[in-house]
Amino acid sequence: MSDLHAKVQQVFDEPGCSTNQAKLTRDRKKGCSKLLAPGAAAGGCAFDGAKIALQPITDVAHLIHGPIACEGNSWDGRGSKSSSSQLYRTSFTTDMTEQDIVFGGEKHLYKAIKEIAEKYNPAAVFVYQTCISAMIGDDLEAVCKAAARKLGMPVIPVNVPGFVGSKNLGNKLAGEVLLDHVIGTQEPEDTTPYDINIIGEYNLSGELWQVRPLLDELGIRILACISGDAKYHEVARSHRARAAMMVCSKAMINVARKMEERYGIPYFEGSFYGISDMSDALRNIARLLVDRGAAIELLARTEAVIAREESRAWQRIAPYRPSLLGKRVLLFTGGVKSWSIVAALQEAGLIIAGTSVKKSTPGDKERIKELMKDDMHMFDDLKPREMYKMLKDAQVDIMLSGGRSQFVALKAKMPWLDINQERHEAYAGYEGVVALVREIAKALSNPIWNQIRKPAPWENTATLNERAIHIA
Ligand code: SF4
Repeated sequence: MSDLHAKVQQVFDEPGCSTNQAKLTRDRKKGCSKLLAPGAAAGGCAFDGAKIALQPITDVAHLIHGPIACEGNSWDGRGSKSSSSQLYRTSFTTDMTEQDIVFGGEKHLYKAIKEIAEKYNPAAVFVYQTCISAMIGDDLEAVCKAAARKLGMPVIPVNVPGFVGSKNLGNKLAGEVLLDHVIGTQEPEDTTPYDINIIGEYNLSGELWQVRPLLDELGIRILACISGDAKYHEVARSHRARAAMMVCSKAMINVARKMEERYGIPYFEGSFYGISDMSDALRNIARLLVDRGAAIELLARTEAVIAREESRAWQRIAPYRPSLLGKRVLLFTGGVKSWSIVAALQEAGLIIAGTSVKKSTPGDKERIKELMKDDMHMFDDLKPREMYKMLKDAQVDIMLSGGRSQFVALKAKMPWLDINQERHEAYAGYEGVVALVREIAKALSNPIWNQIRKPAPWENTATLNERAIHIA
């Protein structure tokens, strides 16, 4: 447990995290987790965060050492897609009982790992600690080590029990697990000056696949995506990449920074959402690769692809623009970078009536301020009642948010679109921005809104009077 404590302190002290660095030393020691208000939704524990970050590694068996409810809580919460193995979606748990709690669960855990290895032959087994197994003192690391030796396969301890903190802390500790046990443990068969890593991208609804074809066309190889649609061996070999793009800084900044420190892989923070951000991402990848030995003509080829794709995307967006121009959006998201989505929506001609910045870093907030010209419409927290009022008073035309706040919009009888991690549509790259615009246009023009805003037949006084006369 002292190792875990040290690791948590290390993550809280991450030099690459601007939020941490902006804090006083005293506040930094307290960590990033906030005390929860009684009755407020917790939003996931550290174990949940670790699972979210690692489960997209597709050919691995993810085994939860704990009561079945922990796995039930965290299983397949995000729609990370796989291009091959589906093993990552199989739910494995030791389903600890009172007997394990009294006698210890280590033997039970070892048997479970052995059974998985024999039945499924996975590339590796990731074993997740939970509150109960940690509190009774099960030595996850020792069991994993013994199992790895006996079974001759990687068995990786993910010692991130829920009680250590928030979901976001869990994301970062999962990154530490990869750094300590996976990255750098295998060598790629070949390397090229065009190899990159993408860090903090989870291939939600297949978003990575909206970007990959362009990289393929440019001859740029994704050595590893950490962790969307990743295979175990790709992550293990990712230390040989020439450059990296960090997509979600909140989740995996420690991985990007430490890989730069340990293996000399430079990184930049970018986004695949919106036309200009997508183009910037391609430019930055090309520039970093050229700096690290790729042929300089990559820059010109990248510009040519950008010019072609931008023009194609604008052409496809054009038919939707008249119906979107001037429409006001309330953006309530913590899942994807708020600035990135703000830019994408503005490009489509929409007006941002307000955006949440609760989960944004100081850098993200600055960028939003720049895009929106002021910070008047940035909310740290918007209560459902206020959200409802904005929608009901028609101060906005549509809300883009996660599933949890959809009912506020539906109660106000206003269009709503799912933009968070659980969404079923992919919105990355040039393809994605066209899809986003199309979905917003569809939601706004859906005839259901006019229908449900009309009074119900039994509320219509004329109909009631007519009926009264008829009865009389
Ligand atoms: S807080 Fe603990 S018991 Fe609850 S889901 Fe997370 S790991 Fe399991």
